Amino acid sequence: MLKTYHIITYGCQMNISDSERITSVLENLGLKKSQKMKEADLIVINMCSVRQSAVDRVYGLIIKLQSLNLKSQTILTGCILKKDKKKMSSFFNYVLDIKDLSCWSKALNFKKEIKRDYLKITPRYSNSFSVNIPIMTGCNNFCAYCVVPYTRNKEISRPSNDIVKEVENAVEKGAKEIWLLGQNVNSYKDGKTTFPKLLEKINKIPGDFWIRFTSSHPKDFKDSLIKTMKTCKKTAPYLNLPVQSGDNEILKKMNRIYTIEDYKEIVEKLKKEIPNIALSTDVIVGFPTETKKQFQNTVNLFKEIKYDMAYISKYSRRAQTEAFKLKDDVSIKEKIKRERILNKIVAKTAFENNRKYIGEITDVLIDSETKNNSWLGKTKEYKTVKISQKIKNEKLMGELVKVKITKASLWGLKGELV
Ligand code: SF4
Repeated sequence: MLKTYHIITYGCQMNISDSERITSVLENLGLKKSQKMKEADLIVINMCSVRQSAVDRVYGLIIKLQSLNLKSQTILTGCILKKDKKKMSSFFNYVLDIKDLSCWSKALNFKKEIKRDYLKITPRYSNSFSVNIPIMTGCNNFCAYCVVPYTRNKEISRPSNDIVKEVENAVEKGAKEIWLLGQNVNSYKDGKTTFPKLLEKINKIPGDFWIRFTSSHPKDFKDSLIKTMKTCKKTAPYLNLPVQSGDNEILKKMNRIYTIEDYKEIVEKLKKEIPNIALSTDVIVGFPTETKKQFQNTVNLFKEIKYDMAYISKYSRRAQTEAFKLKDDVSIKEKIKRERILNKIVAKTAFENNRKYIGEITDVLIDSETKNNSWLGKTKEYKTVKISQKIKNEKLMGELVKVKITKASLWGLKGELV
């Protein structure tokens, strides 16, 4: 009889959100959370396949599980490529699709069965003040380097009423930050409700909360969204807009369907309409055939846009993708060098951008406590702020507080509670 469970989650916010739905199903079946993997009757591994290193971590975990010789039952779920599913299935009791979450109870031999779409299952949030809400799942874009369309399949948008209800519930329970999640939120569509319309509906929900969203594909980023971001005051002035490369030829090989000129035009409009917007991006260095000259175009773009943050990945081959057919011809040494160059530029531009906040009084959502009663939080622009006063007050966690910014550094701000 299964009594306790332990979930290990790898990957993005979408996987974290899926684990919150898995938690809800398991707890409805009467299982209790075990903090320690070794003591759990059921171990769920929610995996990610976006990079080979993420897959390798699961192989590492398999070795650990084998060496521990546990009696626990094991489930593998999440983003899994067919070839990995085949290889890994013998190491787990069950390999279950997250989309079939309502049938997991049957697979685990529980009598209780919940027959409904997995996104209709009420999640058990791991965090009550910053809540992840999926608005869609899957992706139709087939970027040449990405496995998501193969692991999560075609794009499906959730009914907007379900999303609004979930946000209302979360806000009623104290959520101060709502993250709307999807592989490409800009292509969200439920009847006449497009993504900007969905933002408008959520913006009307009473309460003091911020709306954030990720990910945005530049090819679907319309002027109407910029207008909505400007007028819907709950929408945070922060955007992650993945560019992936600053070179048009590489973008074409990546199957990104936009040019760097299109991208710059969006950024220009965003900065004009929402002057305080903070921007981050995702970029891949060393994509097959990327020459030094082509990489220089990414360098130039970084210098021009002056990002606040960048998630820089060194290209790694993923089976099943189009890019897998290309020779991975940029050496790892060169990839590391390119990664360093971009990191250096972002460190400089982020520092310059951060300095502008000195002297400002801003709202900060407190989200963590370090040892010795120091508190950290995020501004609406998604800047990390360290509070200089040391305060013993458990009630601070998850609260929106006013902070006067006194110092800026490369990766964040420092300030005093006012
Ligand atoms: S938009 Fe491209 S990178 Fe993003 S999930 Fe879809 S295929 Fe992957």
